[in-house]
Amino acid sequence: MTAPGPMIRIGQGFDVHPFSGDTDRPLVLGGVSFDGLPGLAGHSDGDVIAHAVTDALLGAAGLGDIGQRFPDTDPALAGADSVGLLRRAVAALRDAGWYPQNVDCTVVLEEPRVAPQRAAMEARLGDAVGAPVTVKGKRAEGLGALGRAEGIACFAVALVAGGGPAGGESA
Ligand SMILES: [Zn+2]
Repeated sequence: MTAPGPMIRIGQGFDVHPFSGDTDRPLVLGGVSFDGLPGLAGHSDGDVIAHAVTDALLGAAGLGDIGQRFPDTDPALAGADSVGLLRRAVAALRDAGWYPQNVDCTVVLEEPRVAPQRAAMEARLGDAVGAPVTVKGKRAEGLGALGRAEGIACFAVALVAGGGPAGGESA
């Protein structure tokens, strides 16, 4: 039995990318460029935070995943701005009657430090999502590949409200 009122759904996203070793490739996290480190490997700009956020939102709305929607075999997406892909995913959610309420992320990395750019990342992601996005940095304390700074991982959870296509703009 479903309770009356607007429906809410939760979604979870995870992503991980290795460092590319290419110092000419910018490191982009949460839509913000970081100097002094090689970029993450990937078909797009490798923005592991934007990808986890996108997957959490798509999952919450039952709209599949980022790999289905933006395949890494698509030449048009080479080097793509992942915040732009996130915006396209949010538009798909709205088309389906779902409205993001908030997203919370934990990015697991040894470097760079998240804190100095946290507000900029939250602002860029929040603008794309149209709802608050929070980003927390966490070190892997030297354990495993992430602890050896071979790459960066990100977890995200998203809450969306609405009613799906039949429910309209209840949020
Ligand atoms: Zn990714």
